[in-house]
Parts: sequence; C-alpha cells; structure tokens
Amino acid sequence: MASITLNHLVKQYGDGFPAVNDVSIDIADGEFIILVGPSGCGKSTLLRMIVGLEDITSGDLLIDGQRVNEKAPRDRNLAMVFQNYALYPHLTVFENIAFPLRLGKGKHSEEDIRRLVTDAARTLELTDHLERKPGNLSGGQRQRVAMGRAIVRQADAFLFDEPLSNLDAKLRGQMRSEISQMQRRLGVTSVYVTHDQTEAMTLGDRVAVLKKGVLQQIASPRELYEQPVNLFVAGFIGSPSMNFVPATVSGNVLKTAVGDIEVDSRKAAAIEGKRLVLVGVRPEFFEDASLVDEAKLPHGSTFTAELTHTEWLGNEQYGYINFDPDPEVRSLLDGLARDMDADELRPQIVVTLDAASRIRGGRPAELWLDTRKLHLFDPETGENLT
Ligand code: ATP
Repeated sequence: MASITLNHLVKQYGDGFPAVNDVSIDIADGEFIILVGPSGCGKSTLLRMIVGLEDITSGDLLIDGQRVNEKAPRDRNLAMVFQNYALYPHLTVFENIAFPLRLGKGKHSEEDIRRLVTDAARTLELTDHLERKPGNLSGGQRQRVAMGRAIVRQADAFLFDEPLSNLDAKLRGQMRSEISQMQRRLGVTSVYVTHDQTEAMTLGDRVAVLKKGVLQQIASPRELYEQPVNLFVAGFIGSPSMNFVPATVSGNVLKTAVGDIEVDSRKAAAIEGKRLVLVGVRPEFFEDASLVDEAKLPHGSTFTAELTHTEWLGNEQYGYINFDPDPEVRSLLDGLARDMDADELRPQIVVTLDAASRIRGGRPAELWLDTRKLHLFDPETGENLT
C-alpha cells in the first residue's frame, strides 16, 4: 500500500485550456478517493497520469514520497480496474486471477501462484467459483475477479475508471456496496473515477470535484454536501439538486420572487455591501408548514406559494414552484460579467415534502423554510459566502 501525492499536476494536450490544470491532492495510505465531475472535466486524464498512461506536462507525481513522473506504468506497481473488467472469457476464474502472475515469466512458482490466487479468492469469496468461466458469473462476481487480479499483484493502489457505468441501476447499486466493502476490508489506497455523484458520495472517504481541469473542492461527502465552496459544487452534489434563487439584499432581509427571507446576523455580515446574491436552498430545507415541529418553527420562515404540481414517490413527494424574477433582479443578473449556467438561472424551485403532506399543485400552499441552512452565493464569482 502507498500514499500518492499529486503536486501541481498539469496536462496540456494542444493549445486550448489544460485538460488538468494545477491539481494538487495528497492521498493517504489506504484512503479511498473519488474523482468526480461532468464529461470533459479531466478526471480520466488525471487517473491515466497517475497510472502512467499519459505523460505529465508539469508538476510532480509521488508514490510513497518517490517521484515517479518518468517511471513506466509497469514499474509503478498500481493496478487498474477497468469498466469492462477486461477478463478473458476462455480462461477460468483461477486463470484470470493468476494472469498477471504468469506474465512475470517464472518469477512465481506454480506453488506461489496457487497460494496467492486461493488467498485472494478467499478474501473475495470466490473460492467456490474458481473453475468457472467469466460468462457464468454475475456482474458482481466478475468485478471481484477483476479485483482479484489487482490483489495477487500486491499492487500498492487500485485505480478504477468508471467500473460501473455499463451496468443497470440496480446492479450498479449492488456493485457499489461490494466495492466499498472490499476496499475497506483490504485497506488498499484507491482512486476511483466517476461522473455519478451518487457513486462519489457513497464510496469515497474524500471526493475531489473537478470542473474544466480545475479542482473545485476536495472534502468528505458530508462536507461537500453541507459546505460546498461554490455554485458548481453545490449544484453538482445532491439530487434533486440545490435550488438557486436570486435575491436583492436589504440589511438582513433577502427579497426574492417567492417572498422575503430574514437571515441571522452572521449571514447578514457575510453579504454586507452586496446588492444581489443567489440563495442556495436544498429541496429538503422546505417542509409543509402544517407538519413542522413546533420547536423548529422559530428557526425558519413560513410563506405561501403555489406549486405547479407534485410527484409522489412513495416515501416522499417532490413539489415544483415556478418563479419570475422581478425587473431589478433581472437587470442585475444581466449586468454580471460572468455567464451564469442554465442550472444556476433555472426559474424553478423543487421542494421535498413528507409523504403525508396534503399539499397539491394548482392552489396556494403554506411552506416552511429552514433559514439556518441556507447558502448565500456571490453571483459574480460563484463563491459561497456563508
Ligand atoms: P469523460 O467523463 O467524458 O470521460 P473526463 O472528465 O474523463 O470525461 P478527459 O477524458 O480526462 O475528461 O478529458 C479532459 C479534456 O481533455 C477534454 O476536453 C478532452 O477532450 C481532452 N482530451 C482527452 N484526451 C485527449 C487527447 N488524447 N488529445 C487531446 N485532447 C484530449
């Protein structure tokens, strides 16, 4: 096992903006790190730089403190686990796992190979399947065979490149928990690339969010969710995603198209001098006002809004509110130097309601908003001010 240090890594392909732009991350021995971001954010390039399949334009890559920029992939002792598992259909599970050992040409005796493969199979609960062919295994078992290969090599770290993206939603869920348990059991340093925020949130000790080659934030899943540093991270993490409602600031009162919101003195101080902010509200910060615990009421605001419609999911409901920013807000938004993303400007609020809520679309409803949890963003820089 090993620590991996990315020190100001840059990857420049052509003349455009760098695919990986000055990324620094310290990955501790045994840690499970997720690289996540939308298509083209540079996460696969970064993984390929770590494993040695892509040259490093500048910066240093260290494994256990040793600079390995120029080392060939085979000399880095890292094991890549691919999307399609890269198993040989004509070989048994035993031979698939033994494959990297046999490549060592005589480095391992038959006895060594048998011992290493049976040990790995025991860890992965594959002992009963060693004589089967990959075609007769479930997706989860195949994934474990692929991990078995990485284990017998006694690799210092596992690198996963979107291993679950070809699977259907149910299998993906199962496999996610298998990988997570296995990683924890083995305690092997792991770096896992995905574009799926659910995978990122459920698997990682820490999650690194990338956008256009730039590391936006690296933190535990909880911290990313509760303290996103900017609009991008706030909007990327969480489903349904965070609502952004433009508001003009007047002291400690935020004026929005759906009503006024009073904020505490700490939040008011953070936005002092700003004319416009974007209020970040997760769908679950709202509640049906008639169902709110009385003790909680003083910590929020109650307001009336008309929902266009609700969706019933069994355990909860989603409600939708459309709003129309007033002319002052509109002109302030138009005057921004930055082009805002469509998601940041969506004139709709999604609220999560208790399954028992009787609120329905098409008529006014009383909603309660927990104002303690609001995030306030600078629309110009995207930065979280709270
Ligand atoms: P995806 O989820 O779609 O795989 P990604 O986040 O993994 O995306 P990368 O594949 O790392 O993104 O690509 C990052 C950027 O680098 C993209 O703009 C891509 O077009 C560019 N890129 C990747 N590989 C090359 C290459 N070999 N030559 C030139 N540009 C490349």
